[in-house]
Amino acid sequence: MNVILFGPPGAGKGTQAQLLAKRYGIVHLSTGDMLRQAVASGSALGQTVQKIMAAGTLVPDDIMIELIAERIDAPDCANGFVLDGFPRTTPQAEALDAMLAEKEMSLDRVIWIEIDDAILVDRISGRFNCAECGAGFHDSFHRPKVEGVCDGCGAREFSRRKDDNAETVKARLAAYHEQTAPLLPYYRSKSIVETVDGSTQISDVAGRIETILDGV
Ligand code: AMP
Repeated sequence: MNVILFGPPGAGKGTQAQLLAKRYGIVHLSTGDMLRQAVASGSALGQTVQKIMAAGTLVPDDIMIELIAERIDAPDCANGFVLDGFPRTTPQAEALDAMLAEKEMSLDRVIWIEIDDAILVDRISGRFNCAECGAGFHDSFHRPKVEGVCDGCGAREFSRRKDDNAETVKARLAAYHEQTAPLLPYYRSKSIVETVDGSTQISDVAGRIETILDGV
C-alpha cells in the first residue's frame, strides 16, 4: 500500500505515519527526518539545507526529488510506503507520479489531515521526540507514560526541533498554504483523496485513517 499523509505542519502527519507503518508493515518516509539527519551529519546536503529549514521555507524541488527518488528505489519500499512531508509542490507531485509509473506502482490514497491554523502553533511549540527511536510526544497532549522515559524504547534522551518556534511556524504555514495546499485539486482529480479531521485525539485520527485504509 502506498499512501501520502497530507496536511500542514503540526497536523500530526509524523505521528500518524509511524502508526500506519507499524500497522501495515510499510515504510515511513519523512523528507523532514531525512533532511534533519543530513544536517546532523554535516553532509554537503545538510549544509545546503540547514538555513532553508531554519527559516521555514522549502528546499528546492530538484534536491527533494533526487532525495526521494533514491529512497523509493531501496528494496524496503517495494512492500509499500507512507509519505510524510512529500510532495510539497506541484513539480514534486509530478515527479513522484513519474517515479511510480516507472516502477509500475501507484498511489492508493492521499489522506488529507485537515486542521485549523489557530490550533497548529500551540501544537508545534510543545512537541518533542525520543532521541533514540524518534517517537513523538507533546508537553500538553501526549506526555510519556513514565515521566522522562520514552514509551516506545525506554530511552531517556529527548530532542526538540529547531524550527518548532512561533516565528518559523508562521513561515512554514505560509509555505504550506502557498505551495502545498494547491496540490489537493491535483490529487482530487485522481479521486484518491480522503479527508480526516486532525483536531481530534491521536487515537481518533488513527482510527479514522485505519477505517479508510483497511478498505483499500
Ligand atoms: P517537516 O519535518 O516535514 O515539517 O519538514 C521540515 C522542513 O524540511 C520544512 O520546513 C522544509 O524546509 C524542509 N522540507 C521537508 N520536506 C520538504 C519537501 N518535500 N520540499 C521542500 N522542503 C521540504
